[in-house]
Amino acid sequence: MTRGCIAFLSLLCGFAAASAGQPAGHAEASKPNVLVILADDLGYADVGFHGSREIPTPHIDRIAAEGVVFPQGYVSGAVCAPSRAGLITGRYQDRFGSSRNPTVNPNVPNGVPRSERMISELLKPAGYRTMAVGKWHMGTFPGLHPQDRGFDESFGLLEGGCDYFADNLTLNDFSEVTTDWGWYKIKLRRNGVPVSSTGYVTDLFSDAAADFIRRQTPDTPFFLYLAYNAPHGPLQATEAGLARFAHIEDPRRRTYAAMVAAMDDGIGRVLAALDETGAAQRTIVFFLSDNGGPIADNASNNAPLRGRKGDAWEGALRVPFALRWPGVVTPGTVYEHPIIALDICATVVAAAGPEARAALLPDKPLDGVDLAPFLTQATSVPPHDALYWRWFDDDRYAVRDSRHKLIVSRDGAGPRGLFDLSADIAERTDLLRAPSPSPEAEAEAEAEAERLTALAEAWMRDLVPPAYPPLSGRWRPGK
Ligand code: CA
Repeated sequence: MTRGCIAFLSLLCGFAAASAGQPAGHAEASKPNVLVILADDLGYADVGFHGSREIPTPHIDRIAAEGVVFPQGYVSGAVCAPSRAGLITGRYQDRFGSSRNPTVNPNVPNGVPRSERMISELLKPAGYRTMAVGKWHMGTFPGLHPQDRGFDESFGLLEGGCDYFADNLTLNDFSEVTTDWGWYKIKLRRNGVPVSSTGYVTDLFSDAAADFIRRQTPDTPFFLYLAYNAPHGPLQATEAGLARFAHIEDPRRRTYAAMVAAMDDGIGRVLAALDETGAAQRTIVFFLSDNGGPIADNASNNAPLRGRKGDAWEGALRVPFALRWPGVVTPGTVYEHPIIALDICATVVAAAGPEARAALLPDKPLDGVDLAPFLTQATSVPPHDALYWRWFDDDRYAVRDSRHKLIVSRDGAGPRGLFDLSADIAERTDLLRAPSPSPEAEAEAEAEAERLTALAEAWMRDLVPPAYPPLSGRWRPGK
């Protein structure tokens, strides 16, 4: 069966699965609510459902326990903005120039272009109420803000990071920045307007999300995009949070743990809002990180994966990833095939019905697939023949199929090799260089590398260069 057939089948099955899981009655009741919870720079090992005991994450674990865990859940970018651009559009971000973290200078076109449709823009025609909470990082340029992209409401930061103590956020906008990295002091925005806030930013985002849920009514479905900037730097936690982890000796790891725990506490309040309003049974909840942990920068832990945020190893690309979907996903499921954040959009569009699907642009096919038929075991084939990544500025790419991953650094400066992920999750043995057990095995590895190279080169033919300058702390007015 071709990938196109599977995608088509997925859409059909998605409707059936979504309908089967919902109570009969009001027409809108068949449209599930959608909650996407995104962590920022969270380590693969730093959630309870991946075995963390150092940092308890009971509420994130609840999503996993009541739904499905994806041990091979990927993102399409190794750093924040590209990953988010892929997630929110369901398309490889390299197709539309969002290949790098953008400058935050609002005088430069710098985000996801208007020629792409975001999940919010696809769900609005299906009657959804929408809100974006937290870190945007998909355009500070006028016209690229949440309120311009199908979100009825928004609260958070447009940039890539901010000080976690809201009292320190004193600048109205980028024009008031006078120091390097001064844009970390820009005020949060509510519905596009800078607002003075007080408190711990992670808490503010959790509370805004819970408040949005409490204001919804059962007759109108909602899409809530809750994109934390935690536990991205700067490493800042509350005194109460630090006290919970006084037993962790390393002060940086202690702070990181407190930041993750604050996010988990907040997710608990958001899930409680779903419970209290009766919305939980008709709400799809995704949880994932936008990229792997940057280890040295924020004291995260990607074990047993090799590498860190930004690079080409699994530690950059494979993330904690779970989905709760009452009526569709059997609680306690572990889904072993590789999936990718690009699948979120396709899954949601299929579940939301024909109006959302009709809003898709015919010349912008989704790269992700509807996961519902795979999770309901309507089909046992893997969702993807292959997954791809590109690092434009490093002239590097990676591709994986169900078993092997090929990393190619064309300038010769970075990692390169073929790895058998089914036996070597830590990517220790490059099959193209390691002593081969036999001439046949060596020839097989070479043939596999050639096959994956051909797939990646075909994929890259449709990609474009980055559409904007890179992120820099030194970008400031007049420079
Ligand atoms: Ca990130």
